[in-house]
Amino acid sequence: MKLTNFIDGKWQDIGSTEYTPVFNPANGEQLAEVKLSTMEDVNIAVEAAVKAQKKWARVPAPKRADYLYEIGRIMKEKKEHLAQVLTKEMGKVIEEGRGEVQEGIDMALYMAGEGRRLFGETTPSELADKFAMSVRAPIGVVGLITPWNFPVAIATWKSFPAIVAGNAFIWKPATETPMMAYEMAKIFEEAGLPPGVANVVFGSGSQVGTAMIEHPEVKVISFTGSTETGSKVAELGGRHLKKVSLEMGGKNAVIVMEDADLSLAVEGILWSAFGTAGQRCTACSRVIVHKDVREDLEKMLLEQMEKLTIGDGLDETVKIGPVINKNALEKIHSYIKVGQEEGATLLTGGTILNEAELAKGNYYAPTLFTNVTPNMRIAQEEIFGPVVSLIEVNSLEEAIEVNNGVKFGLSSSIYSRDVNKVFRAQRDLDTGIVYVNAGTTGAEIHLPFGGTKGTGNGHRDSGVAALDVYTEWKSIYIDYSGKLQRAQIDTQVIGG
Ligand code: NAD
Repeated sequence: MKLTNFIDGKWQDIGSTEYTPVFNPANGEQLAEVKLSTMEDVNIAVEAAVKAQKKWARVPAPKRADYLYEIGRIMKEKKEHLAQVLTKEMGKVIEEGRGEVQEGIDMALYMAGEGRRLFGETTPSELADKFAMSVRAPIGVVGLITPWNFPVAIATWKSFPAIVAGNAFIWKPATETPMMAYEMAKIFEEAGLPPGVANVVFGSGSQVGTAMIEHPEVKVISFTGSTETGSKVAELGGRHLKKVSLEMGGKNAVIVMEDADLSLAVEGILWSAFGTAGQRCTACSRVIVHKDVREDLEKMLLEQMEKLTIGDGLDETVKIGPVINKNALEKIHSYIKVGQEEGATLLTGGTILNEAELAKGNYYAPTLFTNVTPNMRIAQEEIFGPVVSLIEVNSLEEAIEVNNGVKFGLSSSIYSRDVNKVFRAQRDLDTGIVYVNAGTTGAEIHLPFGGTKGTGNGHRDSGVAALDVYTEWKSIYIDYSGKLQRAQIDTQVIGG
């Protein structure tokens, strides 16, 4: 199967005819080949999008929303198929695959609702017989760059608000997961979106990503990926005066206080640390535990980790699937030596799994380090695999300080039954998302998603906040006095 670009409502190859293989990380099987586009492909996509967007912006927003309802309906109809493709291509277990597709469906319906809101503001003028309001205006053509770990959900967080607000988009998915983007392009086509409103251009970040950022007609770049790549995108985008929205890496922690329900905490840690084989931006990779419960928690975690089943995510009994590719496997494994050399104690895991069928895929053993101190590299850097570090602390204040002492600020969590501790923690944890008595994952689409510090640059995906990325505020003053009225000058001051 050869995946070609979807541009201007057509499946077309224009520039290079170079293709690269797509592999199933569970067993190494080749699933498809994907086109590596060139700048020429991007230019043609942008030209189509510019033309389409002019008309699209004139379509009433509730009508634009109807297409999203239709997209949501088709996604629902194809949910199982999409989840299967997702698991084959990306590796996450099928239950999580279904959950991710559901997230896309939820986003379609939620953003379709925005078609009948897209609220602006009206406000009194300081002058008589004058009316003032601000409205959200579409920006034009937007460029979307997405990672492989949530190949559908993240694309919907970006593309659905973009189109309901009246923009056209070019989406460059990750080269590891083009099949999901191909499936979504087929859905855009089936939903009857006008040609050119939705365009999918496959290829590398350095070619297609760069061409999108440099193109003068692409006004917004919405990027999700690593902090390293995000800084490059910001730098290049800055030079071209682009509005750049960045959602990047994380080093998320679960805090377990001495009064926590430990069984509940263990369940939350396992789910948020080892779900998606630890390859979530919100994955729990640090457990900050009060000294009074450290030993008990360690024991309980080890007991439960032994029960985790590892294998092909299509097998419904499997809890942990493969990691995305061999490079990821090597990167994760390199941190074991780093942790040990720094003095951490490896309690379990720390190995690439090669037995029997597992040898065909990219499997890593769930790993737990203890005696980790906050400044060790394993406690500071994003490993993006099933590796957790236990850090012991003496108080809530210390736990919060350790949580905040990393360059990232995406998600954090606290397990405690003390309402005072919980309220202080939610106020002082410096992350964009905070969970109480739940792990670090589990975002819902109607709330803003994103992080502070090295995780983001102040924008948010999903929720109504996403509309801020894809709209400009336009302030409109309507003077119906029939005479010149000068703001700040012709105002009457009472008592003046
Ligand atoms: P990545 O940075 O390697 O790639 C992300 C995207 O950027 C891909 O589409 C890639 O092709 C493209 N890209 C690469 N170089 C580029 C360049 N020079 N210019 C423009 N685009 C370029 O990230 P990844 O490995 O695909 O994803 C994992 C990372 O994403 C992790 O760091 C994870 O934490 C992060 N992530 C963040 C969030 C969030 O919302 N904060 C969500 C999911 C993943």
